[in-house]
Amino acid sequence: MALIVRIDVDRPYGKQGVVRHIASRISSDYYLPRIEGLRYLDELKTILRLLNANGKSAHVFFRKCTYPTPVVCELMEAGGHRFGLHLENSQTAETFREELGSLEGALGRRVVEFSKHGSGRLHLGRHHYAPYEPERYIPWAAQAGMRVFFGNLENPELRPVKEGELLFYPSAFWLEPFWRDTKRFPIEWLLRQAAERDVVMLLHPDNVTSSAEIMREFLMTIERLETADLPVLPSASR
Ligand SMILES: [Zn+2]
Repeated sequence: MALIVRIDVDRPYGKQGVVRHIASRISSDYYLPRIEGLRYLDELKTILRLLNANGKSAHVFFRKCTYPTPVVCELMEAGGHRFGLHLENSQTAETFREELGSLEGALGRRVVEFSKHGSGRLHLGRHHYAPYEPERYIPWAAQAGMRVFFGNLENPELRPVKEGELLFYPSAFWLEPFWRDTKRFPIEWLLRQAAERDVVMLLHPDNVTSSAEIMREFLMTIERLETADLPVLPSASR
């Protein structure tokens, strides 16, 4: 019974400061070499260091424009965090396999889980296929032997589902309050629920680091709750 920390890494340079905000947009839509001077993935590093200091692990989902650097990979290894794909082009099984292969090639390792970028309402960048269609992703996950995280703007009360080897998480508690019914699901709800069962908590690093209140709630959860160490699923056909 534990907290499952899901981190979607959407923006390479966050969105604070005009130059970093623009660099995030250009990287997402076109291509920009990593610019360490603009503090590439700084917000993710902050979150990983806090998790590591508390001995807690997370599931971290990367887009093409936020692939991890060697320093980030070291922080991931040190904390026992899992590498995941934050899927952008979900148009077909083929585009899914292409994105997965690209991330695995960049990392030089198997990726065992994925989440979907966006919630179907907005078109978020040039490579983004906006529709959010969880039922289409289940066979892809089964074929690839992967865990799949849904819960893009869905009810956090839905429980994890296991079908044979396939394990998926149909909902998430969004740490950022602008996407959560905070009256119905305050942080105390999460603290209670995760003490009794597995609950996914979703966050985006730059939203946490830019808000004292969200950071306070993040620290409260990782200090008080145990995080889950989920099994790697046996691969179906890869
Ligand atoms: Zn996203």
